[in-house]
Amino acid sequence: MSAYKLLIGGKLVDGDMTMDVVNPATEEVLAKAPRASEAQLNAAVAAAKTAFPAWAKTPIAERKQALLKIADAIEANGAELARLLTQEQGKPIGDATGEVYGTAAFFRYFTMLDLPVKVIEDSEGKKVEAHRKPLGVIGAIVPWNFPLILMAFKLPPALLAGNTVVLKPAPTTPLTSLKLGELIKDILPAGVLNIITDANDLGAALTAHPDVRKISFTGSTATGAKVMAGAAGLLKRITLELGGNDAGIVLDDVNPKEAAPKLFQSAFQNSGQVCIAMKRLYVHESIYDEMCAELATLADNAVIGDGLEQGTQFGPLQNKMQFDKVRELIEDAKKNGKVIAGGGTVDKPGYFIRPTIVRDITDGARLVDEEQFGPVLPVIKYSDPQDAVARANASPYGLGGSIWSSDPKRAYDLATQMSSGSVWINKHADLAPNIPFGGAGMSGLGSELGEEGLLEFTQLQVINMAK
Ligand code: NAD
Repeated sequence: MSAYKLLIGGKLVDGDMTMDVVNPATEEVLAKAPRASEAQLNAAVAAAKTAFPAWAKTPIAERKQALLKIADAIEANGAELARLLTQEQGKPIGDATGEVYGTAAFFRYFTMLDLPVKVIEDSEGKKVEAHRKPLGVIGAIVPWNFPLILMAFKLPPALLAGNTVVLKPAPTTPLTSLKLGELIKDILPAGVLNIITDANDLGAALTAHPDVRKISFTGSTATGAKVMAGAAGLLKRITLELGGNDAGIVLDDVNPKEAAPKLFQSAFQNSGQVCIAMKRLYVHESIYDEMCAELATLADNAVIGDGLEQGTQFGPLQNKMQFDKVRELIEDAKKNGKVIAGGGTVDKPGYFIRPTIVRDITDGARLVDEEQFGPVLPVIKYSDPQDAVARANASPYGLGGSIWSSDPKRAYDLATQMSSGSVWINKHADLAPNIPFGGAGMSGLGSELGEEGLLEFTQLQVINMAK
């Protein structure tokens, strides 16, 4: 038995099984979580299907009220949720607090949007309207790096548009989602939102379930491809937010001392476990040595520790599998480049890796070509900005990228040549609920957030009337 419960059909229920959730800062079991069986997954989808017709007919103003109440409930329990988030995910409590209140803000943002009927033509012979209808049951699948805010990319627009949802968080970070279910279960009619947790074994069944009309998925590219294949048989709608290998390109007119702290934060926030973290940094040869030295100093001075401890800047990797993967990439990078800061683990329990800077490394090395998703940054020397853009674009990924320069025109010109879904200038990874976000290439399909993100949870219907 677990103190945490699944939410199925408006009821908090035990899982048919349980599983341990580990605190990555201590490697100790933090809590037992429920683990749903496939029968419970089916019950959750059935509850969502039953709840759909009434929720779809509920006036949008009432659906907005529900979203606002959810935002209120998140804020009212902000401190408790933030603490739990740090304990299960590892991030510092300040970052966790930001994620919790950001989640509430994302729910509020979507209440400012509407789905009005659009008149496309109103002429002598005909009137043509575009309507936006809900799709039905949505499967929302979330990874472990930002369990709450990534859920808030999906739930508010899905519910606002009149869909019902089965939410599945990642196996290693289920607790905040389950806690949220407990907090908001009476706000929504039974079955409108269902939350099930698994041991990485129910995603495929949720994707393939005949009563699920759309999968909104955030996670790795490899799993995203499986979702796409699983959804193909019934031509389900899919939105895929996948992995990235974001490049930052620093031009020769940048002051290394001024830019280094911002670049460092862009790469190491959440210990590098951010889909749009800066994952490879191209620096012009004229400032390369100075920039490497600045970044190494920041890495050497970084405070690593349990996210609940005052002063911690960076927490552990979230799970053992990711910890092992990043260590392997660092070992490989030692053969292809020079580690000038970090490079090792911390001598205490927990999945800690010190922020690591690798210089004299270039394209073709695993650390440059693959998504590290951890606290290690390759710094690559270039001489021609056009060549740096070409190398940035050569990746199969295309999530984000950034250009850093003191000349706005030069930066803008290069930014327009980048092939990623988002490009930032003199910053990196600036996301907001009103700004659509999506990946090019193998970083995804479709977009989330903003009006575009809302429309992805609807079916377009054209009504074409003779006059
Ligand atoms: P993952 O793909 O291993 O897991 C993501 C989710 O998919 C989990 O809930 C998992 O249980 C579920 N899942 C596993 N097998 C499945 C299957 N066959 N069908 C359906 N669902 C299945 O990813 P992860 O390791 O948890 O997350 C890290 C990855 O997520 C990184 O690549 C990162 O870049 C990416 N990410 C992308 C974004 C974005 O918005 N583009 C945001 C955050 C993370």
